[in-house]
Amino acid sequence: VHQVDQSKDVLKQDEQFVWHSMKPYNPNLTMVVTSAKGAWVTDINGNKYLDAMAGLWCVNTGYGRTELAEAAYDQLKEMAYYPLTHSHLPAVKLAEKLNEMLGGDYVIFFSNSGSEANEAAFKIARQYHQQRGQHNRYKIVSRYRSYHGNSMGALAATGQAQRKYKYEPLAPGFLHVSPPDTYRMLDSDLENAQDMACVKEVDRTMTWELSETVAAMIMEPIITGGGVLMPPDGYMKAVKEICEKHGALLIVDEVICGFGRTGKPFGFMNYEVQPDIITMAKGITSAYLPLSATAVKKEVYEAFKGNDEYDFFRHINTFGGNPAACALALKNLEIMENEKLFVRSKELGDQLLNELLAHLQNNPYVGDVRGKGLLVGIELVKNKATKEPLATGMVNEVIGTCKKNGLIIGKNGVTVEGYNNVLTLAPPLSLEDNDLSFIIQVLTNVLNELYLFESK
Ligand code: PMP
Repeated sequence: VHQVDQSKDVLKQDEQFVWHSMKPYNPNLTMVVTSAKGAWVTDINGNKYLDAMAGLWCVNTGYGRTELAEAAYDQLKEMAYYPLTHSHLPAVKLAEKLNEMLGGDYVIFFSNSGSEANEAAFKIARQYHQQRGQHNRYKIVSRYRSYHGNSMGALAATGQAQRKYKYEPLAPGFLHVSPPDTYRMLDSDLENAQDMACVKEVDRTMTWELSETVAAMIMEPIITGGGVLMPPDGYMKAVKEICEKHGALLIVDEVICGFGRTGKPFGFMNYEVQPDIITMAKGITSAYLPLSATAVKKEVYEAFKGNDEYDFFRHINTFGGNPAACALALKNLEIMENEKLFVRSKELGDQLLNELLAHLQNNPYVGDVRGKGLLVGIELVKNKATKEPLATGMVNEVIGTCKKNGLIIGKNGVTVEGYNNVLTLAPPLSLEDNDLSFIIQVLTNVLNELYLFESK
């Protein structure tokens, strides 16, 4: 039976009125999603897909949680909005909760997106040094291959040239260093973090740029959008020590790694460091409403507490910390706690990684399988010996075939050569056991039949 494609009319209108992010509008690939539950989304034609990317790595507690909708609705009825130049209970309670999750030494500044949380962090870092009379400290160091957001400062911190070059000049004062790429590092590099080329480069950059001009370094615990780059043992600790030596703050971007993605409440908690500033978004509300936060260590915050109005943080965000989003976030964190989703992320993540490693170890295209918690990257190569990345057409075949079989996965990882050869998985943490089996089954079948496309 030939079914009528219900999406056609919507997509026609969409093409006329909506400007989409990133890729040119492509009616052949675009779904009209109409409902979603758990890890599954349903399109307008009734097709179901397991969303192994949780949207954009963000729907951590899963789709269709009516209690989240109710939390927002109840708050909207009671008190929809008042600016956070004053105070309201949802923001206070959420800040208190986040502080508790972070270990009890932070104050929280609210915004609406990951980009804004990072912009606030850069300004806080710069003003912090100003407040202490260090007027030359403005430079922000970050890593190549990282993504930190779309605004002029967050994009300047981003280490992916192809996202930036059309919009330059971006905010000045941002420097980049090499990321750790354990798959392509020399083995001898890996023995001791202090000796790694990518760690020494942080020290050398801050030295040669003059320590007293450096305000902060920003990093994700695991580089996500750049291809799930796992830090080698001791890396993050070594970088934190270098920052301290040079008097720079460490900002940790937890926009993706936060809220259980890596099997801990926050990604940095895997790596024995305590950041000065922590930015978070996405999973804070599981994407049901926009909200982000910049958590700032008390001792940094204290520097802003002069009597003069010039000591204030001169940064206002109209919607930041809006009551409905805060109330929803609190409910979302309660779900994570009640359902022990951080533990579940670790357990299911270990199982996912181990099964993928076992099923794919002999696959000629799978160079590396890596990850932590429910965050996994599969690096596809043409040749395992040379590690030459697999051509984009082949990577797209994998993604397209998975989708035809009901599985949505991601693609990331820009190398210097411009390849995009890392498949990514970041499913909802509320994933059910059957869902996990489905991901493993579809993905390994598709990858193990990939050679069929080689001849095309
Ligand atoms: N930081 C990281 C690590 C991200 O992945 C993203 C978004 N993908 C951002 C910041 C920016 O977040 P937003 O899109 O909410 O501005």
